[in-house]
Amino acid sequence: MKVLIVEDEPGLANTIAAYLSADNYQCEIASTISDARNRIESFTYDCILLDLMLPDGNGLTLLSEIKDDARLDGVIIISAKGELEDKIKGLKLGADDYLSKPFHLPELAARIHSLIRRRQFANADILHFGELNINLNTRTILVAQNEVVLTPKEFDVLIYFIGNKNRVLSKNSLAERLSGDAIDVFDSYDFVYAHIKNLKKKLQDAGCPNYLKTLYGIGYKWQE
Ligand code: CA
Repeated sequence: MKVLIVEDEPGLANTIAAYLSADNYQCEIASTISDARNRIESFTYDCILLDLMLPDGNGLTLLSEIKDDARLDGVIIISAKGELEDKIKGLKLGADDYLSKPFHLPELAARIHSLIRRRQFANADILHFGELNINLNTRTILVAQNEVVLTPKEFDVLIYFIGNKNRVLSKNSLAERLSGDAIDVFDSYDFVYAHIKNLKKKLQDAGCPNYLKTLYGIGYKWQE
């Protein structure tokens, strides 16, 4: 799961990133609206944490751009202003949630978790997909009664596929998700192929049919 932290206070941004990274989120930090805009134009985030008072303007400007472009990224406003007017403006513009500073990190993590769950999985802690039962809290996977043990990256890729079922995911978007880097050129996609091969093998060994289709030269699709 990928999170963009738009926050100009480096101490806070780094603290949030460290906390969420321990929870297996991949975090990127942007300290200005223009830096955030560049990243959002190139990548999709599961959640964008958006401060309002930024050096080059008000975060609400960026929020309205995101919504005008009908982007899928979820947005949680994190603001020190704490004023009712900003909260209402933000929610009217389409923010998914609003958290006033100062906040506790576990509260932030819970809001992000529930945002992602709400948007991608219609509120379930347990995902069912055919023979697969996936517990998002304990990160355990069962195929019938067989437990499938995945590495954290394989687990994230599986959730990414299921959250985007029947959509083509490019090699590049998978490479970006696996590496956690916001770079759009990779020397080689071998690491993507290796992770996907292992994921497929583990699922098949547990008795799961192959839902993961390879589209040669394009990418992959998780298909019902
Ligand atoms: Ca600020």
